[in-house]
Amino acid sequence: MLQLNGKEVSTARRAQLKTKVEEFHRRTNHTPGLAVVLVGDDPASQIYVGGKIKGCTEVGINSFEHRLSADTTPVQLKCLIEKLNDEVAVDGILVQLPLPKGLAPDKVLHWINPDKDVDGLTPSSMGHLWIGKPRATPCTPAGVMAILDHYSISVEGLKAVVIGRSNIVGKPMAHFLTQANATVTVCHSKTKDLSAYTRDADIVVVAAGRPQMFGKEDFKKGSIIIDVGIHRQPLKCGKDKLCGDVRFEELEGWVKAATPVPGGVGPMTISMLLENTLHLAELNHI
Ligand code: NDP
Repeated sequence: MLQLNGKEVSTARRAQLKTKVEEFHRRTNHTPGLAVVLVGDDPASQIYVGGKIKGCTEVGINSFEHRLSADTTPVQLKCLIEKLNDEVAVDGILVQLPLPKGLAPDKVLHWINPDKDVDGLTPSSMGHLWIGKPRATPCTPAGVMAILDHYSISVEGLKAVVIGRSNIVGKPMAHFLTQANATVTVCHSKTKDLSAYTRDADIVVVAAGRPQMFGKEDFKKGSIIIDVGIHRQPLKCGKDKLCGDVRFEELEGWVKAATPVPGGVGPMTISMLLENTLHLAELNHI
């Protein structure tokens, strides 16, 4: 079984991105800038935001961190986003989700200028994606496509199954696979006889958010398995262990290729965010 190593792919892409950012700066005298807005003190979000800021530094992108307290009002958050919409130094704006109660993500995303929507999650960005003219693309599914590309895995003509239909992962994932000429079926919690679909598929992208739910018996021999799920499981020693939706250890000798957790899709998400920031800077500084 070929282990699809997202960490390796991410490292390679970041090195290329660093060069592209330098070239862009030489050409335009502008350094791409990413504003990251974190509201509240969710510990997981603090770690994710830290990783994004560190990634910016690594590739030469300017980062602007805005930490707001959990009792921030919608008006206060809207004011900040509008200010960032107008700042020339900021090419991409990311509002870290989830938001505290009282701040509806759908509304908040609407406040971001679509030209600066670095996560590709506003209705405008989704629409552009849907008609095949994407600006910034949703990072996690774009990361999956980048892994497939790195390992020269073509999905053309393959039967693909995506488990999950969220706006952030499942729906754009199905779209990317369709664009790459796979024939795609989207499954979800109401799908009857789910394993009949997964066992028939040449490639399965699992994004159900159910720890360790899927194993060898769910997949066809020789298929390709991409595990988007990411979960922290407490160990007896008090530490946490990361796992995915798939029981990875069962797949050896059965499937053709698979992503581990950790070290598979996870590392790609931040890399694609950084690539999106440069892409938006390029669109905004033609
Ligand atoms: P959501 O909870 O928004 O969506 C889960 C989807 O899976 C839903 O469409 C749901 O169906 C479907 N589903 C849930 N249970 C089942 C089941 N038993 N059988 C079939 N389908 C099921 O999650 P996200 O899309 O945001 O994330 C999915 C996973 O990916 C999570 O583990 C998350 O942590 C991880 N993730 C990882 C990232 C990374 O960087 N690696 C980034 C983003 C997410 P229905 O629509 O019917 O409810």
